Amino acid sequence: MKYELVCGLETHIELSTASKIFCSCTTAFGGKPNTHCCPVCTGQPGALPVLNKKVVEYAVRAGLATHCKVNNVTHLDRKNYCYPDLPKAYQISQFDKPIVYGGYVRLENGRKIGLTRIHIEEDAGKLVHEGGFTLVDYNRGGVPLIEIVSEPDLRSAAEAREFVEKLQLIMRYIGVSDCKMQEGSMRCDVNVSVRPVGSDVLGTRTEIKNMNSLNFMERAIKYEFLRQTEILEEGGEVEQATLRFDEHTGETFVMRNKEDSQDYRYFPEPDILTVVIPEEKVEKIKSEIPELPFDKFERYTKELGMSDRNAKLLIKYKAVCDWFEKTLSFGAGVKHTVNLIVGTVFSFLGTEENKENFAVAVPPSEMARLVKYLDEGKINVTSAQQTLTAMLRTGQSVDDLLSEADLAGTSDVEFEEICRRAIEANPQAVADFLNGKEKAIFALFGFIKRATGGKADITKAEKIIIDMLKRS
Ligand code: ADP
Ligand code: MG
Ligand code: ZN
Repeated sequence: MKYELVCGLETHIELSTASKIFCSCTTAFGGKPNTHCCPVCTGQPGALPVLNKKVVEYAVRAGLATHCKVNNVTHLDRKNYCYPDLPKAYQISQFDKPIVYGGYVRLENGRKIGLTRIHIEEDAGKLVHEGGFTLVDYNRGGVPLIEIVSEPDLRSAAEAREFVEKLQLIMRYIGVSDCKMQEGSMRCDVNVSVRPVGSDVLGTRTEIKNMNSLNFMERAIKYEFLRQTEILEEGGEVEQATLRFDEHTGETFVMRNKEDSQDYRYFPEPDILTVVIPEEKVEKIKSEIPELPFDKFERYTKELGMSDRNAKLLIKYKAVCDWFEKTLSFGAGVKHTVNLIVGTVFSFLGTEENKENFAVAVPPSEMARLVKYLDEGKINVTSAQQTLTAMLRTGQSVDDLLSEADLAGTSDVEFEEICRRAIEANPQAVADFLNGKEKAIFALFGFIKRATGGKADITKAEKIIIDMLKRS
């Protein structure tokens, strides 16, 4: 029998509000252990929580950006469990009325992955195992989280990865989180089951907790798929359980048998008022959402005529898009601007992190100035690339780097003359080229480069040469 994978994700995302969800302590990452704490976030008796308005706003923003509906009246609930990283012995979360519900994220293949709900809750502290002891750091306790619960709509490890990447991108665009998996500001619980292809009944699932890397997540899903398929093929039954993925062996193992929501004895949180989000507020938040990655992609490819490949490369980084769009607003042409970004700027920046942060020394106005010289044929692509690299490295202006002679270019008449001489000087290469050896034309390009001190526009030269050869 053939089996298919069924996967649903619960994704926890730390919100980038300045202060925690129920107190005014900082949410800054790191810091000396237990220095970002107060009586509220360490659960001292009598301390009372006050809900941070920004958290509600961010959660609504996250929901609206993923096509969710908003519960205008909602509340928080206590989820009771006892663990050293949770000093109150309950987590304040939401149970029956999440802030938003019923949205989706669209994958490249057009499939929409349903979002059951997004709710708000507090993060727990962190346990550090050291020298035979376990230490606890409450700096992270009370940091606001949203939990995004997907429908079991994912059908492969690759889809699960793409789904998380899309969520990451959207959340970064709307500025609610930096979604850094390696720093733990985005973590996924992965639910996996298998079923015979064609069946529409859900199989028994296992849940792999706390994945904080996309590669490990993919490996864990593939491993679970094979493990469960084998069990079923041998006539056995999958046992519902909570698992952990061992990064060294690449296998999953049982952490505990699966708890049910009744084990948590959820009940409404009595210390926090009912949360009311008026429709006008929802509208206001909606109006502040910037253009999202999918819409940007559509506009770049359809209206700006960008290739799918380049559009995809740009929309990965919102800061890059902002810089690109600013450059256009100063009059630069799309084509050369994009090519210089994905070629020169990206290779200068190198790492994903640098592209994400996008702290470049070149303001859009200067970039536009450079591109316009290129658009007007005053410089060629090679010289533009070299100049841009120098600008990125030194922060110098275009006009400091390019002399008048650099900008003089070569007149069309002169240029044709050089091409004609290139043909004359290379009879063998011309004959080879005419006999179908396409690469032979490079000999002529070499001649032209030498004759122009490397400044020639080779694409233009190729056109002129081919025209001349056709005519002769
Ligand atoms: P819990 O909070 O107890 O983990 P939920 O019922 O809210 O339980 O489900 C959590 C996640 O598990 C959701 O993302 C859902 O899509 C996924 N899920 C539920 N049933 C299955 C299943 N049979 N196979 C795969 N994923 C599942
Ligand atoms: Mg779960
Ligand atoms: Zn606090």
